[in-house]
Amino acid sequence: MTTNTSESLFAQAKKSIPGGVNSPVRAFRSVGGNPIFIKKAKGAYIFDEDDNQYIELINSWGPMILGHAFEPVEQAVSEAIKNSFSFGAPTRREVEMAELIISMVPSIEKVRMVNSGTEATMAAIRVARGYTGRDKIIKFEGCYHGHGDSFLIAAGSGAVTMGVPDSPGVTKGVANDTLTAPYNNLEAVQALCDANKGQIAALILEPVVGNMGCVLPQEGYLQGLRDICTKEGIVLIFDEVMTGFRLSKGGAQERFGVMPDMTTLGKIIGGGMPVGAYGGRKEIMDCVSPQGPVYQAGTLSGNPIAMAAGKAMLTYLNENPGVYTQLEETGNQIVGGIRQILDKLNLKYQINHIGSMYSLFFTETQVVDFETAKTSDTAKFGKYFHGMLDSGIYLAPSQYEALFLSTALSQENIAAILAANEAVLKGI
Ligand code: PLP
Repeated sequence: MTTNTSESLFAQAKKSIPGGVNSPVRAFRSVGGNPIFIKKAKGAYIFDEDDNQYIELINSWGPMILGHAFEPVEQAVSEAIKNSFSFGAPTRREVEMAELIISMVPSIEKVRMVNSGTEATMAAIRVARGYTGRDKIIKFEGCYHGHGDSFLIAAGSGAVTMGVPDSPGVTKGVANDTLTAPYNNLEAVQALCDANKGQIAALILEPVVGNMGCVLPQEGYLQGLRDICTKEGIVLIFDEVMTGFRLSKGGAQERFGVMPDMTTLGKIIGGGMPVGAYGGRKEIMDCVSPQGPVYQAGTLSGNPIAMAAGKAMLTYLNENPGVYTQLEETGNQIVGGIRQILDKLNLKYQINHIGSMYSLFFTETQVVDFETAKTSDTAKFGKYFHGMLDSGIYLAPSQYEALFLSTALSQENIAAILAANEAVLKGI
């Protein structure tokens, strides 16, 4: 396999783009080597500039749940594009999109469209602050909620991958209003509430974490957080940018049966276009301008092309529940297969898995929070990553990310993924 074109593009990119990439994890820093530059993708396959073909297990970090260039989405975009690309004015499709989201996500009564997951989380905490009249928020160590200042405190994903959990440029004032607790630990949350009585506006979390690798909530944890938030008058925000429309049609909240007050969405909701959304209880969402006093706006929000893609994607998911059965089966087959390989090779590594998300951690310690995630041997992960890439399997280039499966994966693809795992794990 040659990657000469990618290498020369990266050298060129570094001259004009910081670090040569437009989002940090893409740079392969934590796994070593140079990033591959992508030319195109279709279904379960992605192709680089040197025409190497890989089986996709990142899927644009989640959005491509039905595989790349899924035809109904492609058609909807092609149709929409004929009527111009942006109006900055209300459209029919935005109303239909809002109604669709409300019908699918159980706790959302009203919703506002934005352009990314980051925008969604930034807006959600502003609204929660406006609604409660309080300043502080609680987030969890290792959870990532985009690059808004308030969230770059003990953040996962690229922030931990790059070794800068607290980014320069975030003021002490902002940092002081973000309280952090370990994931899966209810006592720590209650202690923060006791020490900051009546000051906490919101508690935000990934109901299933993808950004310290995949970490599941322990039995009763989400309900425990719900109970604390209700008791303390705190707005509970589920950041379902990753889990929304993935863990079920109605996201993690539907899967676990625990309802937040607000939900943030991204990734799948745009079908691959830059889209995010935040929504929640009517009483809270009515604080948003122009209905209420909390300001939030966007020139391209509800963009007609993005809405066409998102609507086609959500409509398909809404009307084809078999998608989720298939994703469960694919997840069980891949993860079950890797578990068997680990047993056969007598390796005690941990796999965390739910539905179509999973992570393999190179540690014998059960991974339940950020501290335990950090026990993973990242040098080993780097070797595993490159072994898999050389075998034609495209994984996230960081230990602290989840992998995302799509319905485009065939039985043949699954067999290839497992064969590559066996060969690579044997050698490290
Ligand atoms: N929230 C979660 C849970 C995410 O995983 C991400 C991105 O990975 C974000 C928010 C930020 O979304 P975006 O990258 O679209 O700004």
